[in-house]
Amino acid sequence: MDVPRRIRLLEGLYQIHADFTASLESLACRLHCDDCCTRNVTMTTLEGIYLLDGLQPVERKQLMATVRGQADQPRYRPLLTTNTLARYCLEEREPPEESHPEKIMPCPLLADRACPFYSRRPFGCRCFVSRRRCGDHGYADVDDWVVTANTVFLQTIENLDRPGCFGNFSDVLLSLDDGGAKGDEKKSPPACEAAGLLPNQPTPALMIPPEHREKIQPLLQAIRALANAS
Ligand code: SF4
Ligand code: SF4
Repeated sequence: MDVPRRIRLLEGLYQIHADFTASLESLACRLHCDDCCTRNVTMTTLEGIYLLDGLQPVERKQLMATVRGQADQPRYRPLLTTNTLARYCLEEREPPEESHPEKIMPCPLLADRACPFYSRRPFGCRCFVSRRRCGDHGYADVDDWVVTANTVFLQTIENLDRPGCFGNFSDVLLSLDDGGAKGDEKKSPPACEAAGLLPNQPTPALMIPPEHREKIQPLLQAIRALANAS
């Protein structure tokens, strides 16, 4: 599937998820509530392309300069993609233990406690919601049902972005850094491993616990309808 079509599907998935989030009650999430905006956010390369393509050349240059300037800072680098984790679960294997940096640092893009590119932010940012302000409690208070729904979106986006890659937000952007080249001069994304990223995998099965199998049906129908219409 070509990139423009995958981008259209990605936008459709973002919209379905936005409608889903809008239906949730009692969320504490507000503008300038930024504790979830950390250097540990992850995304796919398709989402990196979507973010960068939405920027003016000068914005893109500034963004990449900022990310490059903080490239040596510690950050979470996932060991597994979501679909790889699903494979481990299906095969009843113990996944490797992920490790996070001791100190949680803010996302390199964060400015004035807000996201300058909010409409283009990746799903790893969109899926953060909490019933209580994370900063007041030290963690996000998320319903299990929301975790299930978010996982379905993560698996679907990963499946959509094949043969793309998945990894830390900064690493994905660095892998796409073409110095502002245009058209044919644009750099092709490198092999995932060479860029410190993981290759996206097909969805072996959606990770939906039995108690959510009925409740998730309208979301699955919306996702299927999107795929059929594209
Ligand atoms: S997820 Fe937490 S930190 Fe982020 S906006 Fe919501 S309450 Fe604030
Ligand atoms: S990309 Fe934007 S929404 Fe995502 S963590 Fe960074 S500042 Fe926050």
